[in-house]
Amino acid sequence: MGVTVIRNANWVIAWDEVAQHHAYRRDVDVAFADDRIVLVGRNYTGPADRVIDGKDRLVLPGLIDIHSHPEHEPLYRGVREEHGVRNMHMTGLYERSQAFSAPDDEARAASAEFAYCELLLSGVTSLVDISPAWDGWIELFAKSGMRGFVAPGYASARWRLDNDFELKFAWDEARGREGLATALEVIERATRHPSGRLSGVVSPMQIENCTAELLRDSREAARDRRIPFTIHIAQSVNEVQEMIRRHGMTPVQWAHEIGILGPDTILGHALFLDTHSWIRWWTRTDLARIADNGCSVAHCPTPFARYGQVMENFGDYLRAGVNMGLGTDTTPHNLVEEMRKAAVLARIAARDIATVTTSDLLHAATIGGAKALMRVDLGRIAPNAKADLVLVDLTVPQMRPVRDPLRSFIYHAADRAVRDVFVDGQQVVANRQVLTMNQNEAADRLAGAQHCMLEAAARRDYRGRGAEQISPLSLPLAD
Ligand SMILES: [Zn+2]
Repeated sequence: MGVTVIRNANWVIAWDEVAQHHAYRRDVDVAFADDRIVLVGRNYTGPADRVIDGKDRLVLPGLIDIHSHPEHEPLYRGVREEHGVRNMHMTGLYERSQAFSAPDDEARAASAEFAYCELLLSGVTSLVDISPAWDGWIELFAKSGMRGFVAPGYASARWRLDNDFELKFAWDEARGREGLATALEVIERATRHPSGRLSGVVSPMQIENCTAELLRDSREAARDRRIPFTIHIAQSVNEVQEMIRRHGMTPVQWAHEIGILGPDTILGHALFLDTHSWIRWWTRTDLARIADNGCSVAHCPTPFARYGQVMENFGDYLRAGVNMGLGTDTTPHNLVEEMRKAAVLARIAARDIATVTTSDLLHAATIGGAKALMRVDLGRIAPNAKADLVLVDLTVPQMRPVRDPLRSFIYHAADRAVRDVFVDGQQVVANRQVLTMNQNEAADRLAGAQHCMLEAAARRDYRGRGAEQISPLSLPLAD
């Protein structure tokens, strides 16, 4: 690969190691040799195999997405956006996951390829992909060119519905055990992949669907391998109520009690804490538990916002000392839009513009994610960090006038301004085209797969309803 120099970039968001925050730099060079950044500064004079003109460019650290489900979420486009169950405190998760799922591994491959393209085109270079293990996953993830963290999901129980207001469970601990063993195998294979870009995260799926023993063993397996551990927790009112019914405590309190919280733990969502206005439980300890244990939270505002739910609030989590990262729990897989939503929704929840800053959100999407993944070489533009870089085009209208390019990017242009992306020093997006995969071709396969998924809904739904009944079109279809 040799040495690449981005010469005289108009703007660079560089990492200030001493101050521990990102800062703008103007008119500097960014040089990287193979997979590592070697210099951020003026007048690079070393050898260069490739020189990129930095005029009209903002150089941004590659974004880090610590929570996603590429294996099925693109299949939900047009299905999920307004699907929710009011009798389940608005969440559609339980009903939807029963009625709709990827029909086979080909559908999973189409869905994941489509999502990986979307992610690269919005500047994401590192991705935690939480999916049930499927054949071809590692090969596709490697081919994408992303820095991939496979998080094969498993659990001791499955959700079961007999009505639209009560969450029930079908337990099968042997299946959970088998799932853990498979997950560790997949992680092992990913870590050994010759690309050197893949690794893993141990991922029992949901706090309410796992026994304490399975969770403890999972956390132990993560610790032995020095990799992170992640779990969905406090993601719905029904889940919190269920855990209080079982244990007399909130899911976060129970997780603390059984000893699975620590600096290597990434909590998926952690939105419905005991202080949340929809919970109204008497304790006030969840946030402090999360902070005191050094956990990270993967915040994904979009799916919750669509239900009418909001984290209360992002700024309070930061001030409590929680390491905040961001994820794309659904489509669009656009981490820039998640940054924007996270900022706006935090201010609405707090009724305070000062509760978070744009800088807080960029930090979460880069350094926060890197910390959660236990990687000090990601999410920053600094010597010795990985050359995971995004070149934003300052000439697109939504970026102009370029007074504050980060604000232009987050609040206006988003993915429209992502021009080139490098991961591990390799270019994976050039002039807004993904070089490693074909999104249009994946979209064709995705459409066929979605058709099969919708056809199967009536056989899977607990009330035998078809897709049109579960999720009607937004407008009536006239003759
Ligand atoms: Zn999720």
